[in-house]
Amino acid sequence: KNLKKYYTLPKTKLFQQPKTIKAVNDISFDIYAGETFGLVGESGCGKSTTAKLIANLVHKTEGDLLFDGIPVDIKDKQKRNAVTKNIQMIFQDPFGVMNPRKTIGWFLEEPLKIHQSLSRKERRMRVNHMLEEAGFDDTYYKRYPHELSGGQRQRMSILCSLMLNPKFIIADEPVSALDVSVQSSILNLMKDLQVQYGLTYLFISHDLNVVEYMSDRIGVMYLGKIVELAHVEDIYDNPLHPYTKSLMAAIPSIHDRGNPDKAVIAGEINRHQKIGTGCPFYNRCPEALGKCKDIEPIARQLNQNHHVCCHLYD
Ligand code: SF4
Ligand code: MG
Repeated sequence: KNLKKYYTLPKTKLFQQPKTIKAVNDISFDIYAGETFGLVGESGCGKSTTAKLIANLVHKTEGDLLFDGIPVDIKDKQKRNAVTKNIQMIFQDPFGVMNPRKTIGWFLEEPLKIHQSLSRKERRMRVNHMLEEAGFDDTYYKRYPHELSGGQRQRMSILCSLMLNPKFIIADEPVSALDVSVQSSILNLMKDLQVQYGLTYLFISHDLNVVEYMSDRIGVMYLGKIVELAHVEDIYDNPLHPYTKSLMAAIPSIHDRGNPDKAVIAGEINRHQKIGTGCPFYNRCPEALGKCKDIEPIARQLNQNHHVCCHLYD
């Protein structure tokens, strides 16, 4: 609710005043149990910061983050651990999350060591069970990350995220670093695990085809704001916000080969706009109205499931 994350950059030669970056700028949304909530937008729009805020990896500037009604950043450490062990994260780079000098078994056991008081043998049994579930034999326990392919490593980091039986998984660009040929197998694994373990996903990607495949509902982010939020069909078949419309028009298709008229979104993200003045998409918007330059639009609920933040719907 009203989540904000601001970073302040110190004075430099270029900027005489300390500069505030509004990475996440007052966003509110719910993720329902059992669904996959997709978050899309260009790089730098605040998707990963949102993920890290929810996972309690960075501290919010303002707002509330509730998991089953309990603040994920509650001061009481015991209560906080009880909440955060239900929230796990899968990252983009499956190599970067592994210590190259430690075995896969060590990697998979680490969450158990931190959060549970199991014996060595119990840990080993749990890891072998998980490996088996994912179709790996127990020789993988002793292998090193460099002996695995990118796809296998991402499977291992997905397994690692499941070690504590979490309810909620945040996947930040989980297939962006992988070959297209293995992307779909990872996505399907995530779908299967969702059914098997009753998981809820926050699925972040800049790849609109992937997000459409995975998500039940989608939030479209632009410059730290959620500018549109709706069911996946509504976002793809009936986008309302001019930014969403241009994103959808820019999805590449095999039929566009060599088409010079293929839509692109004109201009660049305007990061230097003065805070609180007008719509952040104003400098690129093909449908801008007179008031858009000076008055910031507020999010409106058009029907039960469709929210949009644009003056065209005032
Ligand atoms: Fe375009 Fe105005 Fe809507 Fe912003 S508020 S997206 S500038 S029409
Ligand atoms: Mg990111």
